[in-house]
Amino acid sequence: MSALIRLDNLTVTYERHPAVHHVSGAFRAGSLTAIAGPNGAGKSTLLKAIIGELRPAEGSIDLGALTRNDFGYLPQAADVVRRFPISVADTIMLGAWKNSGAFGRFSGTDAARARDALAAVGLAGFERRHIGSLSAGQFQRVLFARLLLQDARIILLDEPFTAIDQRTTRDLLDIVLRWHGDGRTVIAVLHDFDQVRAHFPETLLIARELVGWGQTGGVMSSDNLTKARAMAESWDEDAEDCLPEQELAERKSAKREPAE
Ligand code: ADP
Ligand code: MG
Repeated sequence: MSALIRLDNLTVTYERHPAVHHVSGAFRAGSLTAIAGPNGAGKSTLLKAIIGELRPAEGSIDLGALTRNDFGYLPQAADVVRRFPISVADTIMLGAWKNSGAFGRFSGTDAARARDALAAVGLAGFERRHIGSLSAGQFQRVLFARLLLQDARIILLDEPFTAIDQRTTRDLLDIVLRWHGDGRTVIAVLHDFDQVRAHFPETLLIARELVGWGQTGGVMSSDNLTKARAMAESWDEDAEDCLPEQELAERKSAKREPAE
């Protein structure tokens, strides 16, 4: 299988503080990859960079001929606003824009597809429910229905099963595995290592810097997990900015100059 998304020395920063640091490698077409790592490891930042929500400070992401429309993205729950007075049907139809045109009207076919997608996630008949009235698990099912409707080649999921009941986790994991079976490329940030080992053939382990990327068995070794934890414990939020070598050297020599 060929490289679909290639990261080359990717560095993503917030106000110059690196969240993802010098990461290189590739996601193959049709691969199913878990992204694992401690809190604050840059996992969400990496997904946001891939979909183009954040720009690389250094290095690059080569998407070949892919465009934003090829990606389905499920943000981390904390980033999803659920207070809009909007129905389940409207929420998932926002995923149908690809077929209706950004400002077009939704067709009867879209409505039928929305019904099918809701049935596929176990929420048949929920169309008119207000999204604010749903449980966390039901809302996550709605977001998966939206992804089903979107029908993207590449699907990025940020902690899809965090704070979700077991039954929902199992149902939604089945959908993820089906996407993989269809030949889609799926990348999911996960923190349940047993789940990663059981279902995800490949893993990218990150602690701002890459710890390992490849077959899950090798990447999730106890050595690598210890290393990732140690890297997280040594994080200093006020660490030196990520600057090009030259600029760093200039800063250092400036610091050495005696005060007036
Ligand atoms: P993860 O998803 O692995 O928990 P994130 O990618 O969310 O980690 O964050 C990586 C680092 O970047 C953390 O130190 C976090 O505090 C910081 N960070 C994330 N988002 C922002 C932001 N919008 N502004 C400033 N710093 C941020
Ligand atoms: Mg995150």
